[in-house]
Amino acid sequence: MVVVMAPNATDEDIAAVVARVEEVGGEAFVSRGLVRTIIGLVGDIESFHHLNLRILRGVADVRRISDPYKLVSRQHHPDRSTVWVGEGDRAVPIGPETFTFIAGPCAVESHEQTYEAAVMARGAGATLLRGGAFKPRTSPYAFQGLGLAGLEILADVRATTGLPIVTEVVDARDVPVVAEHADMLQVGTRNMANFGLLQAVGEAGKPVLLKRGMTATVEEWLMAAEYIAQRGNLDVVLCERGIRTFEPSTRNTLDISAVPVVQATSHLPIIVDPSHAAGRKDLVVPLSRAAIAVGADGLIVDVHPRPETALCDGPQALVDSDLRELAQVVRRMPAVVGRKLATAATRVR
Ligand code: PEP
Ligand code: MN
Repeated sequence: MVVVMAPNATDEDIAAVVARVEEVGGEAFVSRGLVRTIIGLVGDIESFHHLNLRILRGVADVRRISDPYKLVSRQHHPDRSTVWVGEGDRAVPIGPETFTFIAGPCAVESHEQTYEAAVMARGAGATLLRGGAFKPRTSPYAFQGLGLAGLEILADVRATTGLPIVTEVVDARDVPVVAEHADMLQVGTRNMANFGLLQAVGEAGKPVLLKRGMTATVEEWLMAAEYIAQRGNLDVVLCERGIRTFEPSTRNTLDISAVPVVQATSHLPIIVDPSHAAGRKDLVVPLSRAAIAVGADGLIVDVHPRPETALCDGPQALVDSDLRELAQVVRRMPAVVGRKLATAATRVR
């Protein structure tokens, strides 16, 4: 932490800051410049916060230098992490050396629809299946998902297709049942700051896919990840899914720069969801190309066998030629950026 003194700060003001810091066992290093003095603090950052140094006379600013998130920061963990999703031989990596393609329907609607979507996803190169059994809908009148029946469908489709499952949990009370069925627990944009849910998934013993809150800064998002890590679960993958801006031509604005920004500061893997970012199927392939080019560790995409009948997010679901085009992109582009497509056979450990 650094205390920046105002240009008119007196020697007594500086001495007062040093005395306060030393009172709580810290060290203060004073460096006098031509115009202003700065004081570098070394010691327990929490105890410095309680000092309220900002309100002392002559203090212009107090800045922290270390990240407020500790467990997910690269400061103490410089190597980027790989998270494994799935049991035993079926486990698929998400990390810096591979590119992981996740696809499936927005919502599980029936066994037939989920199975067809899973076959489409696998055919396009996906090695993990997404699908919502519990849906966080803006309207209470919209389809809320099949709940437990949806989880059972997903588990059944995993057994027939071999694809591990990524599915959302919207309520801390459902964490045990979702963790029992799923290979990865998704926390959606509307729940990124639901701290009780974050703590519950932190204790569930399964990897977590943490989507960025639609109005969250990168720092708030990483603090949300820290809640999960702080409960003992470091298997967290971040997902950039677009943020709310003034632009109405897309559902959200994909913040592609968040990928390198996160990678510079956190060791956690980060993937991109172009479907929920754009809300339009015609933008999914171009945004997927952008995600691969910028260095994302994977993609998560909505597919549906009959988008026109989808109960949720039909306009953004890929099928037929769009999906074939995405399959080509995912097959060819990761190699250009030095990554191999992640499969259960990939062993990068
Ligand atoms: C989803 O992935 O189905 C979903 C609801 O996404 P988001 O939380 O990003 O809106
Ligand atoms: Mn959706």
